[in-house]
Formats: sequence, C-alpha cells, structure tokens
Amino acid sequence: MNKQITDTLNRVHNALMPKTADLTFLLSLKTKEEQQILFRFADQVRQKHCGKGILLRGIIEFSNRCANPCPYCGLSFHNHSLSRYQLSKNEILDTVDRLHHQKIRTVILQSGEDPQMDPDWLADVIRSIRARFEMAITLSVGEKSLETYRCWKKAGADRYLLKIETASRSIYDSLHPGMNFSKRILCLKNLTKLGYQVGCGNMIGLIGQTTATIARDIQFFKKMDFDMIAIGPFIPHSKTPHGQEKPGDPELVLRTLALTRIVTKNSHLPSTTALASFGNDLKNQGFLAGANVLMLNFTPPSVLKDYDIYPGRKYTYLDENDSSSSLHAWADSLNRIIDYSIGNSLKSATTQTVNQQYI
Ligand code: SF4
Repeated sequence: MNKQITDTLNRVHNALMPKTADLTFLLSLKTKEEQQILFRFADQVRQKHCGKGILLRGIIEFSNRCANPCPYCGLSFHNHSLSRYQLSKNEILDTVDRLHHQKIRTVILQSGEDPQMDPDWLADVIRSIRARFEMAITLSVGEKSLETYRCWKKAGADRYLLKIETASRSIYDSLHPGMNFSKRILCLKNLTKLGYQVGCGNMIGLIGQTTATIARDIQFFKKMDFDMIAIGPFIPHSKTPHGQEKPGDPELVLRTLALTRIVTKNSHLPSTTALASFGNDLKNQGFLAGANVLMLNFTPPSVLKDYDIYPGRKYTYLDENDSSSSLHAWADSLNRIIDYSIGNSLKSATTQTVNQQYI
C-alpha cells in the first residue's frame, strides 16, 4: 500500500493536470501512517517552493453586513439576531496602525457582501492606508463589478480573496440561491486581469460534496493558478438553515490542503482559522501538511463577537501585550521561522505585469 501511495503522489506531483482518480485515492487515505506519507510529501514540496518561513497576515473584519443567503454562514441574511456593524475609516486606520506596529506587512480588509457599501468610501480607506503605511492591502468583500475592482486597484489594493467554496457548478448553485457560479468565475477572472494577486479556496463538508468533487476543486485551483488558496472545514451555525448538519472532517481538510500544496507548488496556503477552531493541534498539523501562512486577527474586541461567521472561532491574536517571542517559540517548535516580509505572490511576475495593461 505504501508503494502505491508514493507512486500516486509522484504522478500527482509531476502531472500538468493530475487525474481525478489519483486525487480521490489520496483524499481517501484513512490510517495515520498513510496520511503521514501524504503530509510529509506536501511538507517537502512546501520547503522546496516556499521555504521555511511562516508569513503573517493581519485581518480586520471591518463589517459583518451581508445581503447574501449562503445557508452555511452566520453572517447571511438568515441570521436576524445578529447585530450588524461597520467600522469607521478612523477605526480601521487605528487598527492598521496597531497591526503595522507589530511588524505585520499585509492587512486583509474583510466584510460580508454589502451592496450598500460605498466603493468610493473603501477606495478612500485604501488610499489612506497606502499613504501612511508600507504594506500590502488585501480585500475580501465579495462579488463586485469590474469597475469597482478597478477603482480599488487604482486606489492601491494589491490582493483580493474570493473563495468559490466548491468548483462544482451544481453544488454551488444549490447552496447559493440567487447567486450564480458563472458570475463568481467572471469575478475571479476580472480580478486576475486587473493585476490583483488573487486568492480563492473551498470548504470541506458541504452538502453533496464527495472526494471526486474535492478532487475537481484541486484541479480548478491548478488551472486558475491562484496566488493564495484557503481551505477550511464547514462548521454548522445554529442560526442558519444548515445549523443541524455535520461539521466537515478536519482530517479531510488536511488531506485537501496537502494535495493542494503538491499540485499548486507555490501558492500561499494558510492553516485556516476554521481549521484551528478544531484545536491548536489541527492548526499545527496544517503547517506540517503544506501551509505557509498564519492569519492573525486584529478585529477590535468591541465587535469581534458580531463577526459570527461560525461558532467557536479560535482566533490567533497578537496584541500590544503579547511578546512576539511566544510566536517565535511556536514556529521553532514546528522547525519553522516567522517571516515578516510583505509576502507577495510566488507566481510569475510576468502575468501580473501584462495584466496591469488591462486597468
Ligand atoms: S459566505 Fe460571505 S457572502 Fe455568503 S453569507 Fe457569508 S459573508 Fe455573506
């Protein structure tokens, strides 16, 4: 069996596009020993293409307003009991200052998908961050028009996260009434053409998902050549239509993460907050199975509980009182180092230069 696993891993690693059958075989590995072969292979690929560093990203969840119906998400309009908020420009800038002070050189501005949010207001926030701080700005605010994406790019945004959750059109459409798979793809393509470093990702544990559909998610990541990919488990939220469903299997998340590393080689992959919510051990295992990015949460405590996307979130913090030595000791325990660089995409710069012409 071990030889079959190693042979399949080599085929998947060397293929221009790995076969679905090979990916489903590896996604179905069950025993600890079998999975360790996969994780060690992914760890070597991570070491070769990304090095030893763990990149830091500081996330600010600046608004929990969302008009979308995603039935698995606590921010969806299904959750009427949620108190909605949006931080002011000054609150965001103060938080970016705190994050910058901690030597974090990427800020992620994240919110639900709010059609009422004024694009010019966010452009102004981006310009103000750009004027005061030397750092990368990542946006994660959902589907917008090409013009809006262009406006934010011109204002100084560098990166954009837009998870697809599943590359299966039928699962996507069944989970997102009123939304459109083709529009999601178009948004991802527009972001790429505009020269953003683009992040995508999927969720493990969706209704209707199988190892074959997850295999096709990984093939989709490879085909789209994303700069960043976030893979996390579904965690049921009692105030949503899927509140009684089973959570995603964290070990399947790890296998998906490891295979995504092996297939995409140098995409930035976080060990996600959702995975960490199953325990610190799972977060650490993510870093031993191909991850190279740590997300640190800087959302102000006054609104943190209202960013109630799923229950039991285990944020990783680094506040004024934290000594960064604990972070270094943690990285050291994984035989890794903390990387304070800006952490741009490791993909070819050529595409991004060419794409600038599209703006
Ligand atoms: S997943 Fe995103 S778009 Fe969907 S309800 Fe949640 S915050 Fe809104």
